[in-house]
Amino acid sequence: MNSILANYHTHNFFCDGKEAPLAYVKKAIELGFKALGFSSHAPVLFENDYSIPEEKFQDYCREIEHLKALYINQIDLFLGLEADFIPNKTHDFSYFRKACPLDYIIGSVHLVANPISNEIWFIDGGLQEKWDKGLELVFGGDIKAGVKAFYYQTNQMIEEQKPEILGHFDKIKMHNKNRFFTQEEPWYQQLVKESLQLIKEKGLVLEINTRGLYKGRCKELFPSIPIIQKAQEMGIPLMLNTDAHHPDELLGYYSEALNLIQKAGIKALWHFSKKGWFSIPLY
Ligand SMILES: [Zn+2]
Ligand SMILES: [Zn+2]
Repeated sequence: MNSILANYHTHNFFCDGKEAPLAYVKKAIELGFKALGFSSHAPVLFENDYSIPEEKFQDYCREIEHLKALYINQIDLFLGLEADFIPNKTHDFSYFRKACPLDYIIGSVHLVANPISNEIWFIDGGLQEKWDKGLELVFGGDIKAGVKAFYYQTNQMIEEQKPEILGHFDKIKMHNKNRFFTQEEPWYQQLVKESLQLIKEKGLVLEINTRGLYKGRCKELFPSIPIIQKAQEMGIPLMLNTDAHHPDELLGYYSEALNLIQKAGIKALWHFSKKGWFSIPLY
């Protein structure tokens, strides 16, 4: 397979990841990576146990900058963030860009706000019961309203916050497991289509994320293969990430995903470098 090893979406102990950034660098060098990107969960404006605490944000930036310089001859390291977007509950992404010399921001929606009540539905994590309970409490069990809010919030993030990368595009499906809707339903496909059009228009890179598969939470990639194919048809750049929360997850389902997408007709993957984005054909 003609590809280079790299991963631009990782979490370390500054947020909810398991080890120090250095452990990821060492592992990535051992595995023969060309590049490694750090993307801890950006600080948010509410209490939580997953993001970088506000007071640790500068330490995070300094630590990654330090490692970048230290390993300059061995691996390309990048300082990124995975930033949440919830209207009125998260920082503007420009706040992070001003505070820290970021290489990129991955914009991801993990918490869906009900646009009327402002209550929050947590759609990530390992517990299906929590997803079900949130749907009931926040959207009164109305799956269409909940899923629409997820994609509208994604669209608003793309338009207003301008992340470079869109993280795990269809994570909303993770705990659905075909119980409340199927991905073939026209209303769902319409939402996907509208968001893809916006991604194309605003020039974002769409991430293919393997975490659901190696964690056993989802039987598909984020996004699903038909969405990846559609994105390619539309000329949207695609990248592959494992969303590692531990150094041992740096290649989680990576080669399997490469095979899967190649079989599905995906022709190239995009990578980030010190000179910017470039693509590598898959063959
Ligand atoms: Zn995420
Ligand atoms: Zn992540």
